[in-house]
Amino acid sequence: MSTVTHDKIVSIHYTLKNDAGDVLDSSDGNEPLMYLHGAGNVVVGLENALDGKTMGDVISVVVSPEEGYGERQGPGPQAVPLSAFGPDAELDPGMAVFAEDDDGQQIPLWVVAVQGDQVLLDQNHPLAGVTLHFDATVVGIRDATAQELAHGHVHAHGHDH
Ligand code: ZN
Repeated sequence: MSTVTHDKIVSIHYTLKNDAGDVLDSSDGNEPLMYLHGAGNVVVGLENALDGKTMGDVISVVVSPEEGYGERQGPGPQAVPLSAFGPDAELDPGMAVFAEDDDGQQIPLWVVAVQGDQVLLDQNHPLAGVTLHFDATVVGIRDATAQELAHGHVHAHGHDH
């Protein structure tokens, strides 16, 4: 029987809640989430909980920020003029934009809010500092293709090269 191991493409249906029980995210009513296992495509706490599972297995796992999206850090949201972005830039709250640091590395910044002609950007993922409560069901397991392994991510739902 196929099991969830390194280099498998795994499909899960999942619900993500916070400590208060609020649903933060869910695949309910959508396609299952597909990811390349062992590649860090999903948070490490969820990936570890799914390791070795088989089709139909149900897991319930509480993931600390350290194994989730990290602890919150830095000075908090910074205001940047909207004019720093192109006219077609999509700047909805929760979206990531990429900035270049002094070494030319791409670093993600998350949009907190757009206020007038300024956009508030934060270095923290919106779920940083949040304890994540995942309920997930394994609904698919297959071998990754050579191209998927080379790219380090799944090719599905129109993602193609
Ligand atoms: Zn690719």
